[in-house]
Amino acid sequence: MTEFELIARFFEHPIAAASGVARGIGDDCALLDFGGPSQLAVTTDMLIAGRHFRVDADPAAIGHKALAVNLSDLAAAGAQPRCFFLAIGLPDANAAWLEGFCSGMFALADAYGCALAGGDTTRVPTVSNGPGPLTINITAVGEVPRGTGLTRAGARPGDDLWVSGQLGDAALALLADAGELALPPDAAVAARMRLDWPSPRVELGVALRGLATACIDISDGLVGDLGHVLSRSGVGGVVRWAHVPRTAGLVAQAERTQLRCALAGGDDYELAFTAPAARRAEVEAAAERARTLVTRVGAITDGRDLVVLDGAGEPMDMPFKAYDHFGSHEPKS
Ligand code: ADP
Ligand code: MG
Repeated sequence: MTEFELIARFFEHPIAAASGVARGIGDDCALLDFGGPSQLAVTTDMLIAGRHFRVDADPAAIGHKALAVNLSDLAAAGAQPRCFFLAIGLPDANAAWLEGFCSGMFALADAYGCALAGGDTTRVPTVSNGPGPLTINITAVGEVPRGTGLTRAGARPGDDLWVSGQLGDAALALLADAGELALPPDAAVAARMRLDWPSPRVELGVALRGLATACIDISDGLVGDLGHVLSRSGVGGVVRWAHVPRTAGLVAQAERTQLRCALAGGDDYELAFTAPAARRAEVEAAAERARTLVTRVGAITDGRDLVVLDGAGEPMDMPFKAYDHFGSHEPKS
């Protein structure tokens, strides 16, 4: 059973009409509608030491990333961040660690005027030979003018397929960490920054309201996350590998490594989105307003499959799959 089969089988449940849930499970954010001029976008993400970050990682980076991954989901919905809730299970009350964690978390929160509005604090129990893992769960709330929230469901055949930023560096840092490859010092630092200090594309998401037909943030690799857009929209897609934006550090690697990192690596926290081909200039203007690089990497088709084309326009084999918490692979670090 995959992570998504598990969610569909056990957690999808009828939504009461009076609940205000306009969109529930299946998107980056739920959209709540209580009849006002705006809707609330709500998302939650959990980070566990040893799975999502190294136990000895810089606490400021952990604080930044715990909030950044949630703001990234708000960005994918086109929502403006408003507030967040922090539930944290700590092994102990380590003031130096907490100061570092809070400095990273609040620097990002303050940059977006996003207020910590509540939470829960517990101590994780001791298991076998030590305390259980540090666990951080953030729930973020954003606002979007009613009816303008972006979802995974609106891609149409003929739409352009775009991504923000450059893909694959976070996964490259993980491979370097695991000793699978060696990076020159500059590339190693740049890749590690992308893994530890992701930039949620909030300004871009807001600028794409009313323009993007579908949007998702890339947390589990482009191919897997695009797959969610295609299946929810009932369409197919073509990605031109040569157009997928990559850093010089990644391009210096073997092609197989580049494919693995840029198409199937997790943790990029860039946006992948679709928009009508007739609105290309508007997308470019929106990206400029948001001061965010965007690249057209392909198109939506009326099939059902995702095809990756090589430089000669031939379909490529994709031996890599998206990250799946219940799949058969090494744990995400
Ligand atoms: P993301 O990567 O944006 O956090 P996912 O693609 O991992 O989202 O999750 C798919 C959908 O399943 C999301 O809408 C998410 O809210 C929902 N989901 C995940 N776990 C649960 C759960 N335990 N109960 C209810 N919904 C869940
Ligand atoms: Mg997401």
